[in-house]
Amino acid sequence: MIRENLEQVEKNIKEACRKAGREREDVTLIAVSKTKPVELLQEAYNYGCRDFGENKVQELVDKFEVMPKDIHWHMIGHLQTNKVKYIVDKVALIHSVDSIKLAETISKEAVKKNVTVSVLIEVNVAEEESKFGTTLKDAIALVEQTAKLPGISIEGLMTIAPYVENSEENRQYFAALKQLAVDITQKNIDNVNMNVLSMGMTGDYITAIEEGATYVRVGTGIFGERHYQLS
Ligand SMILES: *Cc1c(COP(=O)(O)O)cnc(C)c1O
Repeated sequence: MIRENLEQVEKNIKEACRKAGREREDVTLIAVSKTKPVELLQEAYNYGCRDFGENKVQELVDKFEVMPKDIHWHMIGHLQTNKVKYIVDKVALIHSVDSIKLAETISKEAVKKNVTVSVLIEVNVAEEESKFGTTLKDAIALVEQTAKLPGISIEGLMTIAPYVENSEENRQYFAALKQLAVDITQKNIDNVNMNVLSMGMTGDYITAIEEGATYVRVGTGIFGERHYQLS
């Protein structure tokens, strides 16, 4: 089941890259494995997945401990400052930096553990009430402030687009995030790269690739629907 899903996703990514005149290697698929048991992650790993996305610190750490060591772990969920210390030396990339307070905490813990943590600035492009992320308007200031901190390296931007039936509706948000990355690049800020654009989920990753995504975060399209337990 997971193999078939991954084959389909891979086909879609290839086709989107071809349409957009991009190389397949320019897009990395992140298998979003939140709520899924490690047996299913292992299936995706066996297929060839080496990038996994989780949105809860405890779950990421638990899976990190038991899964193979050559996996790149991506923290894609909202991150509380008091939990930063558990993951700074385990994650390849934190996608969800949305405040200077969080950036400062990541910096402090990174220095303590003598690592450099790669991060993305999360932008709530569509300005949805329910979502985390800085606004388009405040993003540049947050990038400038974060860039000054030791132990932290800004690699690009991330957005979570609205849930829509027709992914075309989200094209404008992906294009706006790309434009912001271009604007920031032109500012030539020290210690800032805008090589990464993390955008696109199961419902809209094809559109996101057409608009320049370098990381797509696909959960349902690989692992099937999530069943959340009441707790
Ligand atoms: C859950 C999640 C995804 C994956 O969503 P699907 O629609 O299942 O592909 C992607 N990004 C973030 C930030 C998520 O929390």
